Amino acid sequence: MPNHAAGALCPAIAELQSALRGIPDMAGVALGTIRHDGSRHTAGLAIDIMLHSRRPAEKAKADRIIAALIDMHPQMQWFDLIYTDWNPDGTPFYFHIPGNRLYAGRHLQKSAVGAQTGAAHVNHIHLDWCNYRMRIEPHERTYVYDWPPEARRTGFGYPFMATYATATS
Ligand SMILES: [Zn+2]
Repeated sequence: MPNHAAGALCPAIAELQSALRGIPDMAGVALGTIRHDGSRHTAGLAIDIMLHSRRPAEKAKADRIIAALIDMHPQMQWFDLIYTDWNPDGTPFYFHIPGNRLYAGRHLQKSAVGAQTGAAHVNHIHLDWCNYRMRIEPHERTYVYDWPPEARRTGFGYPFMATYATATS
């Protein structure tokens, strides 16, 4: 039996989504959560924050969001983040930031990802609370992953909003 309802957002994603919607800078920024593609989004464990890394005003907001997510990691305990920086020579730095030891790289530091994953994360920040070892077996496309205990964390919404307000990109 899966440990969550089909098509439900985990409490941590629901709280972050509400917090983001409460930040004036995020007005008009699309947030992508559930989609039915058998992914960690389907499991309700992921959010895409549609801020394009190539548009300076959006990138500045994205960098502040990332700074706030790192600051708030002790309370939030998110698992992984993927986004893109641009080098002065115009080449991309495709990175992820591991928030859980399951994911390769130094804790809460930017680590390179491959070009294919990277190119899919130029126009949005992807953030998730997914423990990929909790893939439901046999593989199916409705529940996809069980929720780890961290995905049920709440109570960080207002502190996150306050942290964003003072973060610099
Ligand atoms: Zn995503």
